[in-house]
Amino acid sequence: MEYVDIETKYVVSKELVEIPLGNRIAVYHRLLGGLTLLDADSSEALKAFTLPQTIQQESLEESDSRYHQLLRQLILRQFLIPSTPQKHDAQAASSFLNKQIHVIQLVMANACNFGCKYCFEGIQGKEMSAESEMSKVDESRIIARDSIQINLNDSMYASTTRFEHQFDPKNRAMKPSDAIKYTENALDIAKSQGVNEVMIQFFGGEPMLNWKAIRAVLDRFNRGENDELIINYSIVTNGSLFTDEIAQIFAKYEVATCVSFDSPTSPNRPLKNGDDSTPTVVNGLQHLKKYNNRIAINAALTSSTWHEFDNSIVDFAKKAGASEIGVIVDFDPTFYANFGTENIINKLWSVIEYGRDHGVILTGYWHQIFQVMLGLDVVSHRGFKNCSAKGAQLSIEPNGSVFSCKAGSTLLGKISEGEGLLQSQNYIGHAELRTNNPEYCRGCEIEGFCGGLCLGSLEKKFGEINVVEDSVCDFYRGITKKHIEALQPFDVATLDLGHVDEEAVV
Ligand code: SF4
Ligand code: SF4
Repeated sequence: MEYVDIETKYVVSKELVEIPLGNRIAVYHRLLGGLTLLDADSSEALKAFTLPQTIQQESLEESDSRYHQLLRQLILRQFLIPSTPQKHDAQAASSFLNKQIHVIQLVMANACNFGCKYCFEGIQGKEMSAESEMSKVDESRIIARDSIQINLNDSMYASTTRFEHQFDPKNRAMKPSDAIKYTENALDIAKSQGVNEVMIQFFGGEPMLNWKAIRAVLDRFNRGENDELIINYSIVTNGSLFTDEIAQIFAKYEVATCVSFDSPTSPNRPLKNGDDSTPTVVNGLQHLKKYNNRIAINAALTSSTWHEFDNSIVDFAKKAGASEIGVIVDFDPTFYANFGTENIINKLWSVIEYGRDHGVILTGYWHQIFQVMLGLDVVSHRGFKNCSAKGAQLSIEPNGSVFSCKAGSTLLGKISEGEGLLQSQNYIGHAELRTNNPEYCRGCEIEGFCGGLCLGSLEKKFGEINVVEDSVCDFYRGITKKHIEALQPFDVATLDLGHVDEEAVV
């Protein structure tokens, strides 16, 4: 740790947020995180620096007293800062434009065998039976709809360009050779900015409709051994097209598998022929479980799933061998007005608590705010707050076009442009929001961890992404506070002057 001058005055950072928790307080830096619990004595010691106080550098570096250990931790977290800030200024550190890519989203197929009511895909390609055998499911069966009337009012997308990509017959499935070429290009782009670890995410539509291309990518890139970086894999799938063979291959490459499924009683995820998709999904999950794959169930808490979203999803996950449920909370701002922010938080929280009691964690876009806040300056390491599309992600379509995310409507360019893609004004517009939120967020207690509403929804409503949809802010702040208030001592770093825990300190 580097301190300043021999005798320096320190003061409590203006960015400190304090939340009382019984006989302790939770404290964190609202831009950098470092969530910590303090007992009454530690809290008093911190408060003593409300006005600048001198600390001798020598005692700071050499004393093993509990008090000096505490001070070192408070300074490390920037809860205490020099009263004349220089290099500890968090805002200054975030002013340079970081162009690092950490997530490569490969859109394997713009088609699906399900007809979910709320999916980005909206109207899908030609109907396909979920009973189709895997051997018959390849790109030749991902057939374009004959004629599409572009009606942006009836789509979650905000641009004609995006809509056209969605239904262009030449943009239905990624050829295996293209998947390899595009991934090589994307890895080169990431490496050009010093990135040494990426996540390749197989996405769709239903990506498993294009198993051949997924297999080609896994076989070619493995864990990145030949490409001088670490590659992790994930997939978002409806879970209906797994076989034993595929489950084994996923286990080999450790593909984190997010299976979308709302609730055992939900009618919102029918097959294209209208039949209940549950038996098909359960069958797929059994294959994955057999080979100990890492499975998360993806559920949605939206206007259309409100009545079915309950503890049964936890029971289902447990039975399926999934220890995590990713919950997508409705990105439509009217959801918060119609159902009430408090009601939404309470409904979600009661399922979170039930999950905790049964060994299943509920996560999601909203939960990442809390996760990021737990560490110190996590955003500068992982490259994004809770929305990777803000500069950290390339979403590559079958025809090589690049958007920031499957949910986004702004074309960034072509993957063949290589590093040049990072010079495009559209990419820069996204990357500028990686750490710096719109002006509206200045001073918000979760500014350093919250990227606001999903940018796809912002584009749809406002036609731009450098804006805030304020109707969701109370939900993000409220659910984060619930997580903080549920903390027990030593769940996170706990700095008690009566009992300094050596294990818990960073
Ligand atoms: S979007 Fe809202 S909740 Fe999130 S940081 Fe900005 S003001 Fe805060
Ligand atoms: S744009 Fe939306 S779906 Fe995509 S990474 Fe951001 S929050 Fe997630």
